[in-house]
Amino acid sequence: MWLTSKIKQVLLVLKPGTVTLPYPFEPRPAPANFRGQPYWDHHKCIGCGGCAAHCPARTIMIRDVCQELRVMVYDGGRCTYCGRCADVCPENAITMTDRFELATDDKADITQTMELFMATCSRCGRCYDHEITNAIDRMNERGYRYDNLEYRVVIPRGTEHLDDDLLKKTETYKRPERTGE
Ligand code: SF4
Ligand code: SF4
Repeated sequence: MWLTSKIKQVLLVLKPGTVTLPYPFEPRPAPANFRGQPYWDHHKCIGCGGCAAHCPARTIMIRDVCQELRVMVYDGGRCTYCGRCADVCPENAITMTDRFELATDDKADITQTMELFMATCSRCGRCYDHEITNAIDRMNERGYRYDNLEYRVVIPRGTEHLDDDLLKKTETYKRPERTGE
């Protein structure tokens, strides 16, 4: 009686066959639109800082070493793979990869660092901002820029977002004259 019961149990278990995956020997491919570790393409990145500003986990840090050199550091230990950085990147420089097996005892394995050379104006020394993607259109829109010392603004010519009141103030502003040495 006992033996019959055991045989029945074994047959019951064997009937469905193998129902589990042979992971980790044969990892299953990630599904479409899977969000794994983000990857930065430094050829596309313009260093605008949008990804760092929108990252809810404060995973991306930016340091300006000097006027021309901006360093971006991605600390994968904090990343939640939410994909917000890739959503907001204006240059599509961030790809959500299918990498998720990232356990490590060396933080360097999940850290990405980019050193970006920031193009600066040879006249005023400030970085360009890239509201317009086409380089030829950008030349038309930029030209010389007027730095207003009192209001500390740089006015890109032809920008759509310029505050009219601010523009009036800068037009009437006169730089103080030297009153003698
Ligand atoms: S995937 Fe989310 S948490 Fe990770 S770096 Fe991008 S915005 Fe931050
Ligand atoms: S949002 Fe895109 S272009 Fe801007 S700093 Fe991040 S990766 Fe670079």
